[in-house]
Amino acid sequence: MASSYVQKVIRSVKKSNPHQPEFIQALEEVLKSLEPLFLRDPKYQQNGILERIVEPERQILFRVAWTDDKGRVQVNRGYRIQFNSALGPYKGGFRFHPSVNLSILKFLGFEQIFKNSLSGLSIGGAKGGSDFDPKGKSEAEVMRFCQAFMTEASRYIGSTIDVPAGDIGVGAREIGYMFGQYKRLTSSFEGVLTGKGLKWGGSLARKEATGYGSVYFASNMLKARNMGLEGATCAVSGSGNVAIYTIDKLYQLGAKPVTASDSRGCIYHPAGINLEVLKQVKEVERASLARYAELCKDAKYIPVKDYPKDEHPVWNVPCKLAFPSATQNEVSGADAANLIKNGCVMVCEGANMPSTPEAVEAFLQAGIAFGPGKCANAGGVSTSQLEMAQNASMQAWTFEEVDAKLKNIMANIFNAAHNTADEFGVPGNYVLGGNIAGFRKVADAMIEQGLY
Ligand code: NAP
Repeated sequence: MASSYVQKVIRSVKKSNPHQPEFIQALEEVLKSLEPLFLRDPKYQQNGILERIVEPERQILFRVAWTDDKGRVQVNRGYRIQFNSALGPYKGGFRFHPSVNLSILKFLGFEQIFKNSLSGLSIGGAKGGSDFDPKGKSEAEVMRFCQAFMTEASRYIGSTIDVPAGDIGVGAREIGYMFGQYKRLTSSFEGVLTGKGLKWGGSLARKEATGYGSVYFASNMLKARNMGLEGATCAVSGSGNVAIYTIDKLYQLGAKPVTASDSRGCIYHPAGINLEVLKQVKEVERASLARYAELCKDAKYIPVKDYPKDEHPVWNVPCKLAFPSATQNEVSGADAANLIKNGCVMVCEGANMPSTPEAVEAFLQAGIAFGPGKCANAGGVSTSQLEMAQNASMQAWTFEEVDAKLKNIMANIFNAAHNTADEFGVPGNYVLGGNIAGFRKVADAMIEQGLY
């Protein structure tokens, strides 16, 4: 019965969204894990919650026209998917990357609903961005693009309506340009974006929050199995915001991260990643990791062209813990097999949906600790909400205050996933525990707010 309800909705979504593989992947993962809840409680089916929750409340697509340094007109596509506002104003990042399309933003927005619910804070789910590629653009071009993007996006957002943040390709620089344009257009200095500069409304520890939060979540998972981070060799992918602050926190807690990656290749540094060099290469020079290997002679650089088919070398080094922190579908079934074979006992997803369904299945079958992105990387959006709270009360908390709240939120998310998995008879399955805990709160709010 519950299974046929879920299957019916999945079939219908596939039919009406035929070219959205990432969205369907995210949707199937969530919906299938909700079956035990529907068996137990018919009210969700009676209220048509699934049929409603899979359809974004609003999908906005717009043209972004800007001029490059040679004065030529360039056109990109802009998006904002306002997925669900049952728990609060829409919240979720902007991604600027050439791969951005409706499928990717809908998968991210859908995941965001449940992640934000799990955070325990009053925020709805959204995602947006553009197929603009900031790589290789001058400062002036990035600024003109951000201004053009916000000129249109400003119509749909506001500090109590929809509060975007950063994601891939959108860091402090882009948030600054977009905030400036919003202020220019509206004459309103308000907390309309998070991840702002510290001098103009940003929160201490927001920059670090996703990576730090992911390591706090890992620490909770390990503790539940009587293990710890101390002395553990860790494989990390990515070299952006999430990866850098994951590596930072791993060192602080006594672990040894030995890998990093970017879109062009990866490095293996058995002596331990040199964080200062990594920051210099990726944050200051905005260069490829090949440059890291020039600066650290004992590190090995592998360009993408030399990767084995369907495998990522980062997941084939001896390691106890793994932190996929770059992008979606970066851990294949073959990678999962390599990790398990090499002695990995825990995978904690800093990125959104980095593990393919085959990889998730392999981790769950092997019985290793697996922290899905919805739970493990919720520290970023949670601290964004702390930034909104500071803006609204015109206060600025210390780094230690924000970090302590973040740690507490990650422990609460872990407990919610852990206890819900126990409640449904699948102890340690944080995919099912996280999905049911996140869904139940949103679904109940939707029922209480009447049909919409
Ligand atoms: P970022 O600072 O832009 O860094 C992204 C990293 O991933 C870069 O090293 C980038 O390489 C690499 N990358 C991007 N696309 C790739 C691809 N298709 N193949 C291989 N490598 C790729 O972004 P971020 O904020 O760290 O985000 C990383 C992940 O975490 C994303 O899944 C994002 O949705 C998720 N996340 C972020 C936050 C947050 O607060 N920032 C919160 C929750 C979840 P290059 O340097 O070559 O571009």
